[in-house]
Amino acid sequence: MDFLVLFLFYLAFLLIGVAMICIFTKNQRLKSLVLGGAQVCSCIIPQCLQRAAQRLLHQLFHTRNPSFIVLHLLLQGLVYAEYTLEIFGYCQELEFYLPYLLLPYLLLGVNLVFFTLTCSANPGIINKTNESFFLQVYRFDDVMFPENSRCFTCGLRKPARSKHCRVCDHCVHRFDHHCIWVNNCIGAWNTRYFLIYLLTLAASAATIAILSAAFLVQLVAVSDLYQETYIDDFGHLQSVDTVFLIQYLFLAFPRIIFLLGFVMVLSLLLAGYLCFLLYLAATNQTTNEWYKGDWTWCQNCPMVTWSPSAEPHICQNIHSHGFWSNLREIFLPAIPCYEKKKK
Ligand SMILES: [Zn+2]
Ligand SMILES: [Zn+2]
Ligand SMILES: [Zn+2]
Repeated sequence: MDFLVLFLFYLAFLLIGVAMICIFTKNQRLKSLVLGGAQVCSCIIPQCLQRAAQRLLHQLFHTRNPSFIVLHLLLQGLVYAEYTLEIFGYCQELEFYLPYLLLPYLLLGVNLVFFTLTCSANPGIINKTNESFFLQVYRFDDVMFPENSRCFTCGLRKPARSKHCRVCDHCVHRFDHHCIWVNNCIGAWNTRYFLIYLLTLAASAATIAILSAAFLVQLVAVSDLYQETYIDDFGHLQSVDTVFLIQYLFLAFPRIIFLLGFVMVLSLLLAGYLCFLLYLAATNQTTNEWYKGDWTWCQNCPMVTWSPSAEPHICQNIHSHGFWSNLREIFLPAIPCYEKKKK
């Protein structure tokens, strides 16, 4: 039983850890909660350590730096190394269908292409030359995005749905969020790459999880392990049950079990986040707008237009023009002619 408990603890630890990282990097209120906690602790921690920690946090989260890209590639490398060195060979011995075994590599290739595109693409940075172009793309709602306002930091006129990114220090059109994992803003021109990147990342984690689980199940089936018997602590002859099997597999293939736990948790979280982003894409909202507040319940808000044909209490975001049109807007964003020529 001990190993099962240990494995469940490991899963819970992973789930909480990854969820915390995701939430903390996105949620200002939680961040300030942690800062408050840190202030309480500051009486006991020496000043120099505090300053060093502050500097490190500032470097990591408030400046553009490639550390999370390196961490991302390192984790991906470790998962694929374990897959290649152990699971792939075992699965071949068990005569798995080869194209299934090669699928994770295909997904990795596509994922790395879109990862690079998301990292390096211009997210829709607003400057003096394209300012007037961006001003015409979206209507001002005069609630979240008032007309004739200027960015306090760069002094440019603020197009609707844009936001100044403090990390990158420029205004970005149709700003979604700043992603530390790709060290870039997610905006009008690279949301499409980001979505495909997330989709392939979730798919590759899921296929590796399914393949390693299938390997373990197949192994148990082929070796007739469940028909065996063993002698327990009290000297009684016992037939093998599920708990015993899990303990056995844990001892025989510890790395595969840890990998399985990691990719299972990862694929669940990524799938959840992807669903959230697809919901935003389908309803033509950005994370920034979603976070700023849900206005749709309010009948008096100019942000919301009531469609008379629809049932009462159903209202629309003024930027949403139907599912396909919303998707087209993300995958074929408005680009000024001179930018097109540059490409
Ligand atoms: Zn800072
Ligand atoms: Zn700005
Ligand atoms: Zn940014």
